[in-house]
Amino acid sequence: SLVDELSAWDKKHFLHPTSPIQQQQDLGPAFIFTEGKGVYLHDLLGKKVIDGMSSLWNVNIGHGREELGLIASDQMTKLAFTSNFATFSNEPAIRLAKKLSDISPGNLQATFFTSGGSEANDTAYKLARHYWMLKGQNNRKKIISRTKSYHGVAIGSTSATGLKPFRDFTNSLAPDFLHVDNFSSQALRDLIEKEGPETIAAFIAEPVQGAGGVHIAPENYFKEVKEICEEYGVLFITDEVITGFGRTGKYFGIEHYGVTPDLMCFAKGVTSGYAQLGGVMLSSDIYQAFTEMSKGTLLHGYTYSGHPVACAVALKNIEIIESEHLIANANQLGNELLKGLQNVQNKCGIVGEVRGLGLMGAVEIVKNKSSQERYTNPVAPLIVSAAAKNGLICRSVVFDGQDTLVFAPPLSINKEELYSLVQILTESILSIEGTY
Ligand code: PLP
Repeated sequence: SLVDELSAWDKKHFLHPTSPIQQQQDLGPAFIFTEGKGVYLHDLLGKKVIDGMSSLWNVNIGHGREELGLIASDQMTKLAFTSNFATFSNEPAIRLAKKLSDISPGNLQATFFTSGGSEANDTAYKLARHYWMLKGQNNRKKIISRTKSYHGVAIGSTSATGLKPFRDFTNSLAPDFLHVDNFSSQALRDLIEKEGPETIAAFIAEPVQGAGGVHIAPENYFKEVKEICEEYGVLFITDEVITGFGRTGKYFGIEHYGVTPDLMCFAKGVTSGYAQLGGVMLSSDIYQAFTEMSKGTLLHGYTYSGHPVACAVALKNIEIIESEHLIANANQLGNELLKGLQNVQNKCGIVGEVRGLGLMGAVEIVKNKSSQERYTNPVAPLIVSAAAKNGLICRSVVFDGQDTLVFAPPLSINKEELYSLVQILTESILSIEGTY
């Protein structure tokens, strides 16, 4: 059959990103997706599942929006590509840079475009360091990030990523990356003091940690962090790759904490995955340093920086987020998601803490509710498999001894679909609970 043939080719020829290699080789693809509509995905066998992860936390407006296909087709037909190096430019990139400035926290002034989040973060480290060179502080080159962070897989972003397995995958990392305890602003202060503030270029953090297991900062954490950064002259970078474009119920996650970044990285939700795009936004202070103080050439640029098709898709995506009030929906249905997860907690014997902000949620699996003791071998991956069979895609996080399920459905999800997500989750946990 077609499925058998494709599965065999998949195993033989397709090295999958971020995947358990042995399992992929043994079992082949669990789904070969062919179509998406709203929160649902369909596969080659005709199975329909709820995309409880917005695929990779990114399909914010949901699947199958024809408007995005049409805008991409129009732009590709008119002008698929042109250089933006030196003095060349294109209309969608200009309009998007302007729009991003209007919607960003603190109205960050300018955008440097990339094709995704890893490139965005690597760009941020380089621009932060170059900024200090322009200011005559060449020693400010160290980048501090947090222990449960995920910042991508380019060599700089891998080095910044706090989750150790990602760093251990390669045996040589970039120098001048330091890690600090996840939610302790005092630990950040201590590290800056120990290293010497004059050696620190920037601190980078996700407003809500995604890949690390949906960890939400204590209320005052970012206020304190921002104060510390200002006190020591360290640039504050927010990695909004997951939390941007409405995911947490505000346009950008950092808005929950009432502080503004010096640099802000984004990707994913900027196009809802309909095209590959990311970028870094710069405060006016940093942008001015580049435009007024730099006598040389900005020697950093990707072929696809400011790709006209990706930028046109982003503009249409943002228009939909705004016209369909998807951020308000994420906020409202985020509350429903959290309530739903609390119900799951009440009904299931192996659910410990649940947490959420907007449409990011997490469920901790524990052996014993009162002691929060965990199973020796993580159980969350078994629940993920059961849920997939029952019609729900979600993800497990087992780094650092965690045993966690995470959720991030499209911002366009409605109440009925959300209840159905929670229902399938409950059944799936109970089915595994029964076997333990
Ligand atoms: N930063 C964060 C917070 C992410 O979650 C991700 C990807 O999941 C990245 C950066 C890397 O982005 P990309 O996979 O587009 O390179």
